[in-house]
Amino acid sequence: MYYGFDMGGTKIELAVFDNELNQVWQKRVPTPKDDYQTLLNTFLELTQEADEKFNCQGKVGVGVPGIVNHAEGTVFTTNVPTAQYKPLIHDLANILQRPVKVENDANCFALSEAWDPDFKRYPTVLGLILGTGVGGGFIINGKVLSGKNGIAGEIGHMNLSVRGAKLLGEKVPEITCGCGQIACFETYLSGPGFERIYSSFTNEK
Ligand SMILES: [Zn+2]
Repeated sequence: MYYGFDMGGTKIELAVFDNELNQVWQKRVPTPKDDYQTLLNTFLELTQEADEKFNCQGKVGVGVPGIVNHAEGTVFTTNVPTAQYKPLIHDLANILQRPVKVENDANCFALSEAWDPDFKRYPTVLGLILGTGVGGGFIINGKVLSGKNGIAGEIGHMNLSVRGAKLLGEKVPEITCGCGQIACFETYLSGPGFERIYSSFTNEK
């Protein structure tokens, strides 16, 4: 069995898959906000529940909204402050008593699509998510390419090109991104970005 966790800022969801990758169970709980140990215990409780339910020791993978430093086993995630810079990979493996894979959630999404029968014949897949921000994941020959710093494929923080700015028109605002740069894709192409562009052209919310 495979246990896939989606750790978000507001909820943690476990989806259990059989060996043919059919989803057989899922459970969603709120993400603990103020304590790292409570966060780890939440993973333990869900895992134990699944282990008992399916009478096995499932393999665990976790998608996180942030940058995974595989060398140090830490995550950079502003959405889940209690896990920020913590050795999450090591601590989860320890408490769950099995190896644990942790990966950026956009990379997990891209990997899932790249392994889809319709896409498997393509050696290179770029997955993009438009939401609160612009997330991205690069898959080369069925494997995540996260790069030395874990941010390959995060095209949301590339700058809007001159041509892109021209397409948006003269009145396009110059926006400072949360990452500190000016005019990242994410500040225009996300949900809040569309709102900003709309209000800068119409003076309406
Ligand atoms: Zn940015």
